[in-house]
Amino acid sequence: MTAGGRSRHHERLLALIPYDTAVTMADLVRISGLSRPTLADMLHRLQAEGAMLCEPAVASGGRGRPAQRWRRRPPGGMFAALAFSRDSVRVRVANADDQAFAEREETLDVALNARGALDGGHRLLNECLATLDSDVESLTSLTLGLPCPVGDGNQPQTRGLLPDWVGFRPVEWLRDRLPGVRITAENDANLAAVGEILDGAGQGCRDLVYMKLAPGIGSALVIGGRLYRGAAGYAGEIGHVQINEMGHPCVCGARGCLAMELYIAARHSTGGEGGLLALTELFRRCDAGDIAAGRVLGRVGGLLGEQLGALANMIDPERVVVSTADVPPHPALLAGIRDGIRRTALPAVGDLPVIPSPLGIRAEPLGGIALARGAHLSGLAHFTASPERGRRGPGGV
Ligand SMILES: [Zn+2]
Repeated sequence: MTAGGRSRHHERLLALIPYDTAVTMADLVRISGLSRPTLADMLHRLQAEGAMLCEPAVASGGRGRPAQRWRRRPPGGMFAALAFSRDSVRVRVANADDQAFAEREETLDVALNARGALDGGHRLLNECLATLDSDVESLTSLTLGLPCPVGDGNQPQTRGLLPDWVGFRPVEWLRDRLPGVRITAENDANLAAVGEILDGAGQGCRDLVYMKLAPGIGSALVIGGRLYRGAAGYAGEIGHVQINEMGHPCVCGARGCLAMELYIAARHSTGGEGGLLALTELFRRCDAGDIAAGRVLGRVGGLLGEQLGALANMIDPERVVVSTADVPPHPALLAGIRDGIRRTALPAVGDLPVIPSPLGIRAEPLGGIALARGAHLSGLAHFTASPERGRRGPGGV
């Protein structure tokens, strides 16, 4: 028995169930391998302890008795996400069931002032808590989202990406100011992928590629219903795949990386500056009827798509979700991505849906809160994917 009096069998069953998903008895039989009578006994004991909630059965219109659904009771207290990009922070604080929440965002010089950025995030966190008539004493856990790979031990790999963060330990910095709060760091695209799976274009999906263009190119992989981080946290760094060995020098030390070549192509045609700004300028010109801008979007989308097609051949995702931060991805960019995927993927893989993110940058604090609450996506898709595997978008796309 554990210290709380609950047996290890009950603890193991609880560990299989994420906080954000209701499950049926059939789901639990499938993932636990236990019999229905054993599970029923365990669930009723956990319900009596207050660890599980049983939702009334709702008729679905199908044949047979409607299934009861079980939900894990969320932990108490408040949960927070501090989601940093290179030049801003978005903070969200919510209670266990998301019924009460507060959000703030601010433009900050994140890349060149690590302590100043964290100070700003910490201040916004306190403002959010005050809005909810709460304080740091009530905070249970916090996810820190950063625009860089995050390795074991919560250590961000910031070299070449966030100059002032090199050698700095942000999780320890926050722990000194938030004693007793469980704090974990996570890559920003990983946060967004979780947000999309729970509340956006990734719903019902267990094999997903999420791609974010803002201002570098980040991606996240969900494989078999789990976030895939790789051996050292570098999984998903598609922006640093070399596509031209004679290309432009990149911040990572190599030449001709996908992100660098793509944004330079966008800047060349707009004559302006900035990666994402050049892309959004192309969106605007394309909407105004500029055919040349549409061609450039098709070409940069194709560069992305060719790499995504190679990746799709390896992991066979159900769909790709694309985000361009504050603005929706332009249809011409998405069309270019689809063409590029078809050029490099097997025909049977190349028709996978490429879907614009409905959440944009908001996916990051949403996913951060879910991770803070402990929805680590472990087994999540066992419950949410359709029984027949296949590629389909949300709402039948
Ligand atoms: Zn690079």
